[in-house]
Amino acid sequence: MLTGTQILLLGGDARALEIIHKLSELDAAVTLVGFDGLHTQLDGAVHASYDESLFENADVVVLPAVGTDDDGFITAVFSSEKLKLQDTHIARLPKHSTVYTGMAKPYLRQLCDSHNIRLVELLDRDDVAIYNSIPTAEGAVMLAIQNTDITIHGAECLVLGLGRTGLTLARTLQGLGARVKAGVLAEADFARAHEMGFRPFYTADLELHMSNPDLIFNTIPTMIVTAQMIAKLPSRAVIIDLASKPGGTDFRFAERRGIKAILAPGLPGIVAPRTAGRIMADCLSRLIQDDLQLRGDGR
Ligand code: NAP
Repeated sequence: MLTGTQILLLGGDARALEIIHKLSELDAAVTLVGFDGLHTQLDGAVHASYDESLFENADVVVLPAVGTDDDGFITAVFSSEKLKLQDTHIARLPKHSTVYTGMAKPYLRQLCDSHNIRLVELLDRDDVAIYNSIPTAEGAVMLAIQNTDITIHGAECLVLGLGRTGLTLARTLQGLGARVKAGVLAEADFARAHEMGFRPFYTADLELHMSNPDLIFNTIPTMIVTAQMIAKLPSRAVIIDLASKPGGTDFRFAERRGIKAILAPGLPGIVAPRTAGRIMADCLSRLIQDDLQLRGDGR
């Protein structure tokens, strides 16, 4: 249980509702900022207006999936209030407190570093990334269906990168009857792709595999689908780039060649906000409870 734990939740979207529900269920004292436009009862959580003093008693601060933007602003879809996280806010936090977010930009990292406040990025964790790969793969399939005039069944699909997202996606596409080719870097991934019935190739040879794909799904967060690769693609091919911004595709050249190329960030929050919220909520509540136990609070 989290009885007596003071949690300050700043901004967020529909995913935050699952987090509020879970934390309240565990009896935490939850204070919300950035939810004033939401006129539903939120499980006993208390609404507050944004003020430095809120930070003084917080054991935990929870920020949205992308903690802040490059200038410190926090997304709060249920409010018109502008929330900016400032040095003076973090300075007021008790030294034992922890800031949780999905992923942090340098602005947030630097604020927490400079005040020696622990920052936890949930999307960095293997377990969260693997759970999140499920709605991500479903979102990628949704985009593939929306942007092609063929079935995924029988389509030649190139999945670039066989990490946490790529593996789930490749298996999902295979389950739908696609002919899946997997572009990998490491020999072990080549072997795994072979074992799973994909047709593996090394991305150093990517150019040799560009003459026939219907769909390319990229999960590699560096420039990989270059102009040179796109020049070889058939005009029917569609590129769905899942890697974090700016993706790994030369979008300018794709447009020039008339190849449809889509950068698709944040799919879990778009296609399955409740599931994505639950994934974050489960992990967050477990980590807070572990942390309390480590500190010997026994609450
Ligand atoms: P990951 O587990 O690190 O997977 C990336 C994979 O790419 C790793 O297996 C890596 O291999 C491989 N790789 C890197 N360079 C390569 C190259 N040149 N050739 C072949 N393979 C290469 O990361 P992830 O969790 O799957 O996430 C992948 C990307 O998707 C990230 O940018 C992440 O932010 C993004 N993402 C987007 C969404 C969305 O909604 N669009 C959702 C989740 C994640 P090594 O490990 O051997 O380097």
